[in-house]
Amino acid sequence: MPLFVIQKHKASTLHYDFRLEVDGVLKSWAVPKGPSTDPREKRLAIMTEDHSMEYGDFEGVIPEGEYGAGAVIVWDRGTYKNLKKNNNPTISEGIKEGHIIFYLNGIKLKGGYSLTRFRGGDSNHWLLVKMDDTEADARRNPVNTQPESVISGKTIEEIEKNRKK
Ligand code: MN
Repeated sequence: MPLFVIQKHKASTLHYDFRLEVDGVLKSWAVPKGPSTDPREKRLAIMTEDHSMEYGDFEGVIPEGEYGAGAVIVWDRGTYKNLKKNNNPTISEGIKEGHIIFYLNGIKLKGGYSLTRFRGGDSNHWLLVKMDDTEADARRNPVNTQPESVISGKTIEEIEKNRKK
């Protein structure tokens, strides 16, 4: 099963880096508001550069002066599955076409999600939306109620503070 990871990243603006393992790299989107468990919520997701698989474990502080300077925690991770029948199209093909649906099996997030490109084929603007399945829950708000790392249990503020000492 391919992996997914969501890193909470307190750079110049706070966002959540949503990453899916595809063909040996982490395809990545920056989601300013983070993922929702409510199918009525459409979350803007800006496609960013691919990251290496090993970066998916990174938790710590990117030093000032470097790209993306600021604290990072692993907010959620697990495996995912392409929800297109017979893996057709594949996730890789779906990304090129601008639409993928997949099932997340994470610690905080479970169930189907879609990512859909908008503003045309060259756009890096996508929408991340929870599918309306048994894991959908409009009352949950894990971005607010479960802010801690799934690796260390620390919040991003704690990671940041430790570095400054
Ligand atoms: Mn980032």
